Amino acid sequence: MADKEKFRDSVSTIDKEGKRVWVFPKRPKGNLYRWRTAVSVVLLAILFGTPFVKINGQPLLLLNILDRKFVVFGMPFWPQDFYIFMVATLTIVVFVVLFTVVFGRLWCGWACPQTIFMEMIFRKIEYLIEGDANAQRKLNAAPMSAEKFFKKALKHGTFFVLAVILANTFLAYIIGVEELKELVTSSPGEHLTGFIVMLLFSAAFYWVYAFFREQICTMVCPYGRLQGVLLDKESIVVAYDFKRGEPRAKMKKGEKAGDCVDCNLCVDVCPTGIDIRNGTQLECVNCTACIDACNVVMDKVKRPRGLIRYDSYEGIEKGTRLSFSARIMGYSAILLILLTALILLFTNRSALDATVLRTPGILFQELPDGRLSNLYNIKVVNKTFEEKPIELQMISPKGEIEIIGGTLIAPPGSLAESSFFIKLDKNVVPFRVTPVLIAVKSNGIILEEIKSSFLGPVHQKGR
Ligand code: SF4
Ligand code: SF4
Repeated sequence: MADKEKFRDSVSTIDKEGKRVWVFPKRPKGNLYRWRTAVSVVLLAILFGTPFVKINGQPLLLLNILDRKFVVFGMPFWPQDFYIFMVATLTIVVFVVLFTVVFGRLWCGWACPQTIFMEMIFRKIEYLIEGDANAQRKLNAAPMSAEKFFKKALKHGTFFVLAVILANTFLAYIIGVEELKELVTSSPGEHLTGFIVMLLFSAAFYWVYAFFREQICTMVCPYGRLQGVLLDKESIVVAYDFKRGEPRAKMKKGEKAGDCVDCNLCVDVCPTGIDIRNGTQLECVNCTACIDACNVVMDKVKRPRGLIRYDSYEGIEKGTRLSFSARIMGYSAILLILLTALILLFTNRSALDATVLRTPGILFQELPDGRLSNLYNIKVVNKTFEEKPIELQMISPKGEIEIIGGTLIAPPGSLAESSFFIKLDKNVVPFRVTPVLIAVKSNGIILEEIKSSFLGPVHQKGR
C-alpha cells in the first residue's frame, strides 16, 4: 500500500536530489490527437490572423497597455472604461470556474496557448528532427557528433525563429500591425526599445518551449494550481476506470485480471510524466494522449475502448452521470447576472466622457449688461475614432454659455480641454451657490447632462 501511494510524495519531473527529470513523451497517435490537431490549427489561425483583421479600419483586437488604448471588435475603449474590463474579467473568471467544475481541465488540453504551442508546434518539430521518444533519449545520451550537432542546431534554430514569430504576434496585439511592420522593417537603432522588447519576448518564448516546457503547467500556472479546489467527484476529467482496469497485470494465458495489461503506454505518452492510473493529479493537463494510447492497447487485446476516458470519479465508481448540483446552479446564476451586467454596460457606454469643474479661485463677475458670469473648465474624452464637435447648452436655469475660443472640438480618441463662461440673469441666482445643469451635445444630440454650481453675490440670501 505504501508503495502504491508513493507517487503522492514526489513530482514526476523532479528527482530525489531536486534535479529536473526530462520528460521524453512518446509521439501520440489516435482519434483524439487528430481532433486536437484540427482544433489547434483553427485556434492558431485565429491567433495569428486576428491582428490583421480590421473593422471599419480599426483592429478587431488591440490591447495597447503602453498607450492605454484598447480596441475590442473595432470599438475603442479607454482607461475610463476600465470598469467594463473589470466586469468582463470577473465574468471570464466565473465562466472558467463553472466550466472547470463541470468539465475539468478541458481548456488546458484543447485550447490553452501553452499546450497548443508546446504539443502542436514545438513538440511536433522535435519529433520531426530528433525522432520519437527513444531516439531523443539516445541522441541526448550520445557524445557530441556532427549528426547530433546538426540536429540540435536545427531544432534550436527553428525553435528560436518560431519564438521570434510568436513574440512578434503578441507585440502585434499590443502595438498593432502597422507599428510592428515599421518596427520590423526599420533598423534596430531607430527603435532600440521596441527591438529590445521584441528580443526579450522571443528569448522568453524560446526558453519556455525549449527548456521549461511542462513546468509552466505544473509549477507556474495559477489555473493549474486551482484545480484542487475547483474539481469535485462529479467533474469530468481524463480518468482511468480503476474498477475495470484493476487488478492490472501483464497478459498471461488463463490468468484472470483487470483490463489494464500494465503496458505503461499511458505513462510513456504523458507530456507531464505522470501515471493517470494513480487518479486525478494536479500535473494532468487533460491532453488525452493517454486515452488514445490506451484505446490502441484495448483494440489489440480485444477489450472495449475507454479504459481511460473522459469521466468523473462518481461516474466510474457508481456508473452515475453528471448532475446539475447546487454548486453548478449557484455559479450559473452568478454568471447570468454578470453577463447581463456586461451587456448593459456595453450597450449604455457613452461615446464621450465630459467633466466640468468651476475654475478654482475665481468668484463670479458682474457683466456690463447686469448679468453674472462664472468661469468653468471642461475636459472631454472622445472615445470614438471620429472628430466630435462639442456644443454646450444650459438646461437649467435659463442662461447663456460662451466657450472661450468659440468652438470646442474633441479629436478622435483623445482628450480636449477648454474653458467657458456661464452667464445668468441675477434673478435666476437667488443663492450664493445655485445648482446648474448643462447639456453636452455633439451634432445636436445630447451626450451627457452635467450638474455643477454657480456662485452668486453673498448678499443674495440663502445657501
Ligand atoms: S495504456 Fe491502458 S492498458 Fe496500458 S498501462 Fe495504461 S491503462 Fe493499462
Ligand atoms: S495523464 Fe493523460 S491526459 Fe493527463 S497529461 Fe498525462 S497523457 Fe495527458
